[in-house]
Amino acid sequence: MAEIGNAFTLVEATFAETLHGLGSVALVVNDPPWSHLASSVATPASVVQAWDMDIAHLEAVAKTQPVGDTVVGVGGGTAMDTAKFLAWKLGRPLVQIPSITSVDAGFTDAVGVRVDGNVRYIGNIRPEKVVLDIALVCGAPAHLNRAGIGDIISCATGLFDWRLASGKAIGHVWNTDLANLGERLLVDLEKHLEEIAQVSPAGVRFLAESYRAIGAACADAGHSRFEEGSEHFWAYCYESLTGAHPVHGEIIAFAVVVMAYIQGNNPERWRDLVVKCQVRAHPLDIGITQDDFVKTFAHLNEYVQKYSLDYSIINEEEFTSDVVDAAWEFVTRIPRQGSIS
Ligand SMILES: [Zn+2]
Repeated sequence: MAEIGNAFTLVEATFAETLHGLGSVALVVNDPPWSHLASSVATPASVVQAWDMDIAHLEAVAKTQPVGDTVVGVGGGTAMDTAKFLAWKLGRPLVQIPSITSVDAGFTDAVGVRVDGNVRYIGNIRPEKVVLDIALVCGAPAHLNRAGIGDIISCATGLFDWRLASGKAIGHVWNTDLANLGERLLVDLEKHLEEIAQVSPAGVRFLAESYRAIGAACADAGHSRFEEGSEHFWAYCYESLTGAHPVHGEIIAFAVVVMAYIQGNNPERWRDLVVKCQVRAHPLDIGITQDDFVKTFAHLNEYVQKYSLDYSIINEEEFTSDVVDAAWEFVTRIPRQGSIS
């Protein structure tokens, strides 16, 4: 199949090498890994600590005009997203150095922020390059890297929802190339189970390459329907109701299993995949109680309508207590891994 999208460059290099070649940079960091990395580089022009994705906070940070020609994000999701926002807002080139593979934020061009606690996409910026520092990534906690399957396995439920909507001529028109990309990534994911469970360099490369392909395809299409659907909507609704923010890839992997069950979409296949990758996705391991699970389903229909989210299985289902109880029973058969791994 032909490559979709005009992909940005994904290169393997160390953090120190990358900074050395860039000149004046404004670093946007998470800690960890920043305090560990700080001594390995000459002092950058400015360092912005990323922790809050609220739009008012980000606007205030942008007003201080962090000094540096290139905005460089180093860390997890909030560092990647904050770096995207600042580079977009200040009109500067962007380089991303993800330190974990728990989330695809470093590889996508959509600038996501939070408004009143809800995720909003307010612009687009494509990174000049994404740098994969294998040693840096492999040094992060294993469960955070394994969580990286979340934004890939979401193609399973995302594609189902998109097919459902496009079959009714609602929203984005079906695109076979995008659908084939999603299907191919799911098959490839099943071939890399052990590498991902072990967090080997090959597993990390596979996750990063998959994100590059997904990010490029979403940027090209102007939407992300093939990899984002009811599983993300469930997670957004849960986070909005509870104020909790579990590791993104872990709550998404969990929600894929739940929504695939609701969809009648081969749920055993996806649960098996999550289990074999050893992703922490048992609800009680990621802080999701049965009460909050039930509450999220009770508000889900209203939530997707209120925020005009894309048409999905949620628009067609009534979440009776029988359905919700059965979904809980199904997803709690994922083995527990404890709250820390
Ligand atoms: Zn996601």
